[in-house]
Amino acid sequence: MIEISNVSKTFHQRTGGSFTALDNVSLTINKGEFVSLLGPSGCGKSTLLNLVAGLEQAEQGSITVNGKPCKGPGPDRVVVFQEHALFPWLTVLDNVAFGLKQKGIAKKEREALAMEQIKSVHLSKFADRYPHELSGGMKQRAAIARALAMDPEILLMDEPFAALDEQTRLILHQDLEEIWMRTRKTILFITHNIREAVVLSDRVLVMSTRPGKIKKEFAVQAARP
Ligand code: ADP
Ligand code: ADP
Repeated sequence: MIEISNVSKTFHQRTGGSFTALDNVSLTINKGEFVSLLGPSGCGKSTLLNLVAGLEQAEQGSITVNGKPCKGPGPDRVVVFQEHALFPWLTVLDNVAFGLKQKGIAKKEREALAMEQIKSVHLSKFADRYPHELSGGMKQRAAIARALAMDPEILLMDEPFAALDEQTRLILHQDLEEIWMRTRKTILFITHNIREAVVLSDRVLVMSTRPGKIKKEFAVQAARP
């Protein structure tokens, strides 16, 4: 469970000015929930996600995961960014296995674990390819496989499909839905596409700008088996 309590974040500029990106935001996300954050550019969506990721620190309020404060990045929370951020000098397999190598998992085992995730995003045939040999959609699939390989409790997705064309995005929606049904990971998903938010998530939070706040939230009634 992610608990965000009365979080505010102000960025201070070198010129002396400051900008309040988040103003007293509170939010609870339950384990296994798929929550979308929707809102116009600059309303603080990425800032909120980065705080949960431990990449930024709030000056006010607290963020905890299962009761533990998010003071920095942790293996329980993995981010998937808009730009895939794959290592260009590594194959898909080595990219997906990279974090497992850091964890000290032996080659044979980490390659088996990585292949399992590569298979789950339908990239088996491309495991030995380099990122530049893949289409945009395939690169995002590889990035998702890399995140899943770490088996985090929480997937933090910052506009993961925003750079893709409509047709590719629809395919990736199906893939993500499948992954979520199978793994029941807690997902915080940023988008400015209302259709995407409604189609994918259980709950949609709408943020407003100046200063960033959660303005509305609604549950999405799912007809899931
Ligand atoms: P969104 O993801 O909703 O587009 P962001 O969270 O990226 O919004 O940004 C919210 C606001 O905070 C923006 O106005 C942005 O310019 C400002 N901001 C974000 N990060 C920084 C930073 N590191 N330094 C200064 N201002 C920032
Ligand atoms: P894009 O992101 O470019 O819109 P997709 O990821 O949806 O495309 O890929 C479209 C199809 O093209 C996929 O089914 C994939 O198998 C194929 N494809 C894309 N790039 C390559 C490649 N480098 N080699 C082989 N097939 C590819």
